[in-house]
Amino acid sequence: MPEPVEKILKKKTLQKDEIITLLKLRPPDNSILLTKALDVKTKTIGRKVYFRGLIEFSNRCSKNCYYCGIRSHNTRYRRYQLTDQEVIKAAQYAYTNHFASLIIQSGENSSQKFISTIERLLREISQMTNRALHITLSLGEQTEESYQRWYEAGAHRYLLRIETSNPGLYKKLHPANKMHDYTQRLEALKTLRKVGYQVGTGVMIGLPFQTIEDLADDLLFFREIDIDMIGMGPYIEHEETPLFQYRNQLLSLQERFEISLNMVAVLRIMMRNINIAATTAMQTIDPHGHERALLAGANVMMPNLTPIKYKQSYLLYNDKPGLADDAEESKELMGESIRLAGDTIGYGEWGHSKHYAIRTGARR
Ligand code: SAM
Ligand code: SF4
Repeated sequence: MPEPVEKILKKKTLQKDEIITLLKLRPPDNSILLTKALDVKTKTIGRKVYFRGLIEFSNRCSKNCYYCGIRSHNTRYRRYQLTDQEVIKAAQYAYTNHFASLIIQSGENSSQKFISTIERLLREISQMTNRALHITLSLGEQTEESYQRWYEAGAHRYLLRIETSNPGLYKKLHPANKMHDYTQRLEALKTLRKVGYQVGTGVMIGLPFQTIEDLADDLLFFREIDIDMIGMGPYIEHEETPLFQYRNQLLSLQERFEISLNMVAVLRIMMRNINIAATTAMQTIDPHGHERALLAGANVMMPNLTPIKYKQSYLLYNDKPGLADDAEESKELMGESIRLAGDTIGYGEWGHSKHYAIRTGARR
């Protein structure tokens, strides 16, 4: 007989079996978990949500992850990279709209040209905004030297999802070669922390072959590596990827969504003062996905600032929403989700993870 949920939710430190019990809850029984998570969020970090303007910089990728629509072997998409002017324009939009924060995401590219382009753009954005914009990068695994160069050029946060903390499952999701190696990804996370970044990671939820025990281990992994920020959401299949062949073995989209919501809530209870994103994948499954993620404990949202003409070519998974929305519409829609959740937007604030601020003494 598992312990009653009320009793588990009173514990200071959750153990794996307790996390599993919580993750298995389904509506309406999970309302007690969601209420507790919202209470923790309210008391610990308050009801402010921070915007990170998202720039999907390029879909050129040297890797071939089995789940991702823009993997290099997928020939369906025209490959693109934003021009410097397009990036600067998007950064300007974030700045004038008081987002205070920007995230540049891309397929993985380790060429010297790419490293220098990002470095140059970081310097330009920092100069243009007098360092008022806090920049997060999500550009995959790179050398320590590249991470260092970008840090010095003005990026201070980095998001690198571990995708799954189970090395055996990681192997099933990636080609068997050095480029797609679990240990290297783990090392990259350590390097980012060493360089001084505010570090984020995350996982996909509802992957083929993934168990509820794996997901509980993912949450324990986040706690163990003492992470500052998390971006996690449901795995959604894409026709032109190798994992698509397992689509009939997956949980339903609705179930993947409910487990994702529970993951956010349990993590908010476990790591009270970190930043947790309400991700696009959640909104893809449920028209109120963003709002429901905020009510489960999330506190970060990423309005998409990518020029519309590129959005059709950055399809990581099926049915990605907002393809026809420009920056203004994306901002408005997210603002509406925040209002519906009863939260407010932290305009003009960097919105550091409080966890990171305490660990390093950072302000704002
Ligand atoms: N290339 C960088 C990397 O992999 O770290 C950053 C960009 S990558 C597109 C960002 C994230 O998209 C990945 O970390 C992965 O978790 C997520 N993603 C890719 N394919 C997905 C899918 N089919 N469903 C849900 N998320 C997916
Ligand atoms: Fe490339 Fe990232 Fe997609 Fe993997 S998840 S194929 S590294 S863009």
